[in-house]
Amino acid sequence: MMTNSPSYSYPHHPYIGRFAPSPSGPLHFGSLVSALASYLDAKAHHGKWLVRMEDIDPPREIDGAAATILQQLQQHGLYWDGDVLHQSQRSKAYLTVLEKLKQSNLAYPCQCSRQQLKEKGGVHNHPCLPGNPAKPSAIRLAISNDAKVEFKDLFQGQQQQDIKYLVGDMVLYRKDGLFAYQLAVVIDDAFQNITHVIRGSDLLDSTPRQIYLQQQLALHTPLYGHIPIAINSTGHKLSKQNLATPINYDTPAMNVATAIRWLGLPLPKLHHNNCNDLLAWAIQHWQRGLIPPVMERLASS
Ligand code: GLU
Repeated sequence: MMTNSPSYSYPHHPYIGRFAPSPSGPLHFGSLVSALASYLDAKAHHGKWLVRMEDIDPPREIDGAAATILQQLQQHGLYWDGDVLHQSQRSKAYLTVLEKLKQSNLAYPCQCSRQQLKEKGGVHNHPCLPGNPAKPSAIRLAISNDAKVEFKDLFQGQQQQDIKYLVGDMVLYRKDGLFAYQLAVVIDDAFQNITHVIRGSDLLDSTPRQIYLQQQLALHTPLYGHIPIAINSTGHKLSKQNLATPINYDTPAMNVATAIRWLGLPLPKLHHNNCNDLLAWAIQHWQRGLIPPVMERLASS
C-alpha cells in the first residue's frame, strides 16, 4: 500500500495561519474557540493571522452572517492581518485547477445519483458509467488504488487514513454547480501561503483528503493542528446546525476567558475585563502541549 507522508516543505518560511469561517450563521462558542486557537498559535509564533470567508455554498448561507462574524471577531479583540479573502471571488482559480486535473486524467465527470451512490455503500470509485453530456455532472478526483495518507497532527499526534477505501473518489465540483469545500480550501491555503492550519477536530477527517489533493497538485502541505470541537455541558457538539450556545454579545471578555480555559491554559481568576489583556496573557502562556486530546475531552465531558 502506498503511504503518503507529507514533507513539510518550508521550515524557513514565516508563520502564516488563518481562520476560515463559513457564513452559515454567527459565531458560536465552538467557532470562537477555533478562531482563538488559530490566532494564539499564530501570534505566539510571531506569525500572521488571516481570515478567509468560505462563502461558496449560497444555499447554506445566512444573509448578513459574514459581516456578523467579522464584527464578532473584532468585538473579541481578534483582529486579522491584511484583507479578508472571499472564496466567492475565487471561481476562476478553482476552474483553472479543475481543468488541469481533468486534462491530466486525475479528475473525471460523474452523473451518479444519490441512489447509485448508496448502492456503492456511499463510496464512489472510478470508472463511472458514461453520462449524458446534456446533463450536469459532478467532477470527482480519481484517487489512486492504494492511497493512504499519514500526517502528524500538532495536538493529536500521528493520524492516517485509507482514502480509497474510506472516502473513494471525492467530489471537487458538485452537480448543482458549486465548488466543493475540499477543492477550495486546498487551493486557497496554497494561494495564501498558509503554513499552519489550526482548526476544530470536526475537520480532522478532511485533512488527509486535503493533503492527498495537495500532493496531486504539487502544492506544499501546511502543518495541521486540530483542537477538540466544543461540546456543551450536556455533551452535545456545538455546530452551526446545533446552536446550543450562541455567544453572548454583552460579555466578550468572559467569552474569551472561557475559550482560553477551554484550550487548556491555566488562566488565573484575576479580574480581566478586557479582551486585549486576556489575549496578551494567552499569547504569552500559549502551549501546544496543553491542548486536550480529542477523545479524552469528548469522553470526559
Ligand atoms: N469553513 C469551514 C467551517 O467553517 C472551516 C474550514 C477550515 O478551517 O478548513 O467549518
